[in-house]
Amino acid sequence: MSTAEIGLIGLGTMGAALALNIADNGFDIAVWNRTTAKTKQFQADAGALAAKVTATESLEDLVAAIKKPRAIILMVPAGQAVDDQIEALRPLLDDDDLIIDAGNANFHDTNRRATADEGPFLGIGVSGGEEGARFGPSIMGGGKRDHWDRVAHILTAISAKHQGTPCATWMGEDGAGHFVKAVHNGIEYADMQMIAEIYGMMRDGLGMNAAEMGDVFAKWDKGSLKSYLIEISGKVAHTTDPETGKPMLDVIVDAAGQKGTGRWTVIEAQHLAAPIPAIEAAVVARNLSSQRANRALGEDTFGAAPHRLAHDMMATETLEQALIAGKILCYAQGFEMISKASEEFGWALPLPEIAKVWRAGCIIRSAMLDDMATALAADAQQNLIFAPYFAEMIKKTHNALRQVVAQGALHGIAMPALSSGLAYFDAMRTARGTANMIQGQRDFFGAHGFARIDGGEGHHGPWGG
Ligand code: NAP
Repeated sequence: MSTAEIGLIGLGTMGAALALNIADNGFDIAVWNRTTAKTKQFQADAGALAAKVTATESLEDLVAAIKKPRAIILMVPAGQAVDDQIEALRPLLDDDDLIIDAGNANFHDTNRRATADEGPFLGIGVSGGEEGARFGPSIMGGGKRDHWDRVAHILTAISAKHQGTPCATWMGEDGAGHFVKAVHNGIEYADMQMIAEIYGMMRDGLGMNAAEMGDVFAKWDKGSLKSYLIEISGKVAHTTDPETGKPMLDVIVDAAGQKGTGRWTVIEAQHLAAPIPAIEAAVVARNLSSQRANRALGEDTFGAAPHRLAHDMMATETLEQALIAGKILCYAQGFEMISKASEEFGWALPLPEIAKVWRAGCIIRSAMLDDMATALAADAQQNLIFAPYFAEMIKKTHNALRQVVAQGALHGIAMPALSSGLAYFDAMRTARGTANMIQGQRDFFGAHGFARIDGGEGHHGPWGG
């Protein structure tokens, strides 16, 4: 009997949570997983929701269980697994059946799959981790609008809500949804890195212990920095390791990986000539963090940095202000990249709507995104740092950012993302920059020509021999 309104393949962390969310919202769902034992376990664990779930043991049974025209979500690892699943599934489907890739696909892959002419295809970015997938993620859709409309009632029902507004929106054709999700993850990298750098200043520069830092983050979560990432940073700092009784932060290895979306964002930014230095710095910082042996060798070779600031050199209020400035600059870079991609790919990406779907459910959800949505609604073309509300905030906070970065430099506390944010700001407030020197050099060695400030292109200098 074909009773399910939607199907789902891949009952891993995200797929299982998403399937339960769909069932919880009253939709009958059919599920299938490559390893059948996991399917059985899923159904056994579904409790009261099991009545809404048809657990199947073959792709044929999955397809047979779904009402026509069918819609099937894939929640498997990005890349080959998605192509393999599509290849296995398509022959079993009718021409108008819809496949939805809800994993973290590279948007170039989604472009290819969406234009392959093998049947309806949507690529949707889903953010919020397991908790979000279960109780309300932020959803960024890409593909044909009428395909999105076929499943929009389900996707908006299961999505997070910000004051009643669903955080699920169609972003544009083809890979638009996965592109926006990639930039979301790039911003996430930078936001996390900036918080980690401020943590570094508190730990090494000010000698604060984990509980004290947890208190500071918890306090900041009541102000302009209110956000999921600040909230969980406070909780992480406050948590004790049950095995040793030490703060969890003190027993976690200081190495973080980077893969997929963060890296793709940085690569794509270069293709688009979109300046996102804070996001790039965050990806680089993760790469550096993984070089533990070399960092230890560096400390042996060069000696540990001085680190500790004089007692009264830095108030935590200054750190808060610096983080506010850094955060605005990093989000401004992310939105500028989206704006560039929109132009380049002809997508008409809805910037205010993007800020709105990020207000709840996703990892970068924060109070500030509400103000960003308002600012972008007033003028989506303008860099966020020039929106009156944020320009005022930056005017009030950039000196704190400068102080923190300067003290970090003087005391050997690495601040790659915050200092990149500051350099971006300083470049963006300098009408007469220094690329005239670069143009002079290029003309000197390669006769590239330059524009003169008193008019005209293609001039050459009288460089002589
Ligand atoms: P996961 O827990 O590792 O689960 C992967 C699922 O895919 C399993 O059900 C696995 O089946 C199945 N699978 C793996 N390779 C397959 C293949 N070649 N063919 C068919 N099925 C295959 O992964 P996850 O964390 O749920 O992530 C799923 C997707 O969501 C990824 O694209 C990920 O990037 C994205 N995502 C994850 C998060 C997160 O916080 N975890 C957040 C947003 C997006 P078996 O049981 O047979 O191994």
